[in-house]
Amino acid sequence: METRWLYTTSENFPALVKESKEVCLIPMGCVEKHGLHLPLGSDIIEASTITYAASRLETACVFPDFTFGDVPGGPASPAGSISVPVEMEMALLETLCEQIARNGFKKILICNAHGGNKSWLSAFLRNLMNKKHDFVCAVTTLPFSTTHKILAEQLLQNGRGSMPELTAEDEDYLLDFYRQGKESGHACISETALIMAVAPEAVHLDRLGIESGLSTHQADYLKEAGIEIVSGGWDINYPNAYHGHDPVDCTENIGRAALRVAAEQLARTVKAFKEDENLLRWHANFQKGW
Ligand SMILES: [Zn+2]
Repeated sequence: METRWLYTTSENFPALVKESKEVCLIPMGCVEKHGLHLPLGSDIIEASTITYAASRLETACVFPDFTFGDVPGGPASPAGSISVPVEMEMALLETLCEQIARNGFKKILICNAHGGNKSWLSAFLRNLMNKKHDFVCAVTTLPFSTTHKILAEQLLQNGRGSMPELTAEDEDYLLDFYRQGKESGHACISETALIMAVAPEAVHLDRLGIESGLSTHQADYLKEAGIEIVSGGWDINYPNAYHGHDPVDCTENIGRAALRVAAEQLARTVKAFKEDENLLRWHANFQKGW
């Protein structure tokens, strides 16, 4: 059945609520620089694509994208980034959750693909406990920067040739990247592969090698001294909004396999969330007397 809220008719909506067992998924990302080679919308493109693919494996309604995340927005921020005050994001998300619940979904799972959203989402969940609501909300972090590891480990476990998407060259490249312990974080091999699978025209591998993805280590001394600064000093250590060794030989095939394993992982999470019978009961107990 059609799982996307926006593509469902009003008449068919109650059937979607029922088939989803009242579970609604919100893809969440941000708009920010992803090195020189990936598009600004990488995180929301990944969240949207993985969430929709997962909903085809384990039926759950997919809400329209929550595109804007917590991104630094000062004058020095890179061109094209969009910064929305966290207070506004929290208020909007709460209103949207109330609307989702009003339409029959009592279990809401935020499918987040932007590391910078983790802190405010944690505060958001706590704040929800201070008001009366008839729904539960939870967060899952998508494996946006670790899919290459999942692929390499599955290949080592199940043997070469076990992934229909990959050629022998793709396997060599993935296993070499993994065995050499190359770093992969923001905008590196996993995100590059995912975007190549969805929007290859938006990936510019020829721009790799111009700005480094390796840490400057400038802020490490603070961490070592037990001092926590904003984002753990990430923006200082990785000034190019890029973390990892250049994924020069990344391919669309790797992206297709990465998308599949990410969707399968999220589908398992959605299944557990759908089948859970405690969350709503605990929530009702906590809200007694309101
Ligand atoms: Zn990203």
